[in-house]
Amino acid sequence: MIVANLKQLKDDVPAAVTVVAVSKTKPIDAIQQAYEAGHLDFGENKVQELCQKHETLPKDIRWHMIGHLQRNKVKYIAPFVHLIHGVDSERLLNEINKQGAKNNRVIDVLLQIHIAEESTKFGFSYAEAEAILSKAKTLENVRITGLMGMASYTDNNVQLTSEFSGLQDFYNKLQASNNWTTLSMGMSNDYKLAVSLGSTMIRVGSLIFGSRN
Ligand SMILES: *Cc1c(COP(=O)(O)O)cnc(C)c1O
Repeated sequence: MIVANLKQLKDDVPAAVTVVAVSKTKPIDAIQQAYEAGHLDFGENKVQELCQKHETLPKDIRWHMIGHLQRNKVKYIAPFVHLIHGVDSERLLNEINKQGAKNNRVIDVLLQIHIAEESTKFGFSYAEAEAILSKAKTLENVRITGLMGMASYTDNNVQLTSEFSGLQDFYNKLQASNNWTTLSMGMSNDYKLAVSLGSTMIRVGSLIFGSRN
């Protein structure tokens, strides 16, 4: 099931789009199945779960931290995390830089942009993100490689299109001057639309692993 779902999904999007298999709440065995079929990118949203899975599973897995990240937990994932999607404050960015230095590495991150209507979702406004970009240039152990956004939880295509294309426009405007490679947008219910609007990385859980409780 998992392997077939993943294959179908990959066949459905251009090869240049990275599929992050969101394995939060799912057991080691489920990840192992996808890994053995050749999949390497997995996403988790809780630091403790991410660390436990990293310890247990093969070390060439690329772990994506996709959830809200607290500053005091950055140190646990700094040694190995592949990409942190949800950077939503300058203080968090500074802490990732500090932990990157301690671990002798440059940690790749995405700035999370608040594109949804719901007030509960984290992220910068476009203006705040632009301000952070100039400050971030002095940080040597963190690298902003693009943007991440979560659209509203709705099946209203007009609204989803407006949220995704706003992010796409902002990404396109700043991509070249910042050497960005990654626009992370799209989940199980909206990845097709996101890809049609320029997403280079989708974060898909339930469509691969089945629904979560
Ligand atoms: C859980 C989660 C996903 C995946 O959601 P699905 O609807 O299961 O595909 C993607 N992005 C983030 C930030 C998540 O927390």
